Amino acid sequence: MTVERKLTIREAYVEASSFLQGHEVSEASNCAELLLQHLLGWSRSEMLLRWQEMFPVELEGQWCELLKRKAAGEPVQYIIGEQDFYGRTFKVTPAVLIPRPETELLVEQVVMLGTELWPSQEASPLVADIGAGSGAIAVSLAAERPSWRLMSSDISSAALAVAKANAERLGVAGRISFLEGDLLAPYIQQGLRLDAVVSNPPYIPEEDEGGLMPEVRLFEPASALYGGKDGLVLYRRLIAQLKELTSMPFLVGLEVGMGQAKAVSDMLAAVEAWDGIRLVPDLAGIDRHVIAWKRR
Ligand code: GLN
Repeated sequence: MTVERKLTIREAYVEASSFLQGHEVSEASNCAELLLQHLLGWSRSEMLLRWQEMFPVELEGQWCELLKRKAAGEPVQYIIGEQDFYGRTFKVTPAVLIPRPETELLVEQVVMLGTELWPSQEASPLVADIGAGSGAIAVSLAAERPSWRLMSSDISSAALAVAKANAERLGVAGRISFLEGDLLAPYIQQGLRLDAVVSNPPYIPEEDEGGLMPEVRLFEPASALYGGKDGLVLYRRLIAQLKELTSMPFLVGLEVGMGQAKAVSDMLAAVEAWDGIRLVPDLAGIDRHVIAWKRR
């Protein structure tokens, strides 16, 4: 005979937090809360209101499964299938990188500088996001600037499917064209005149793989993480391709890894097309974005 346990939601949460802590999960309480909200289909505020209700016994099997996955190191975002980015909730699957908070700063910079370059509400610059992943960058830009035209490309068709789903879910599918292909190749082939190019390419040096957290190394797609031996391979190729475009974009915004900002801004400077190049630090003070721009 099984003993039916009677737990409140709050007790289930406390128990799960200490279970995850015991498995060395970082941010165990936060994970337990996100998993519980997912299991119950409740928002955070609903959960706080219904804290003292009984945990539904029929969900206990599913609850254990979720906790086991988290204890085995899987990112909570893949388990619940979501990550918030720039104020919106994105669908994520193991086919895409989980969007990171520092990338929100890249979106913010491109919105700011783009608004200076195209001040009119009616201006419709063509902005390309290279390496769509979840579509976090392109979808956010489309949602923030309704007059802009967005294109977003990825070499992975599985990633593009997730990016498209996010564009639909967030109501901007009509203003983003998705392309499959390697870096700028599809735009060059189609002779597109891009006004801005934005990218958060894979940039981790292959030799740093062993130093990554297992959550990242074992679960996130390798093709979204590694940028060749020194991490700079994708920047070299992308920046070389700029010259093959019909015309030089007015704005290029790139996210870079720790210690890469100087090398990437030197590569961009060598193109000799810009009125300015700025480095943007993240919240930890690390130069995280390199933005090159020229007046129109
Ligand atoms: N553009 C996506 C993001 O910033 C994916 C980036 C990547 O896969 N390297 O989250």
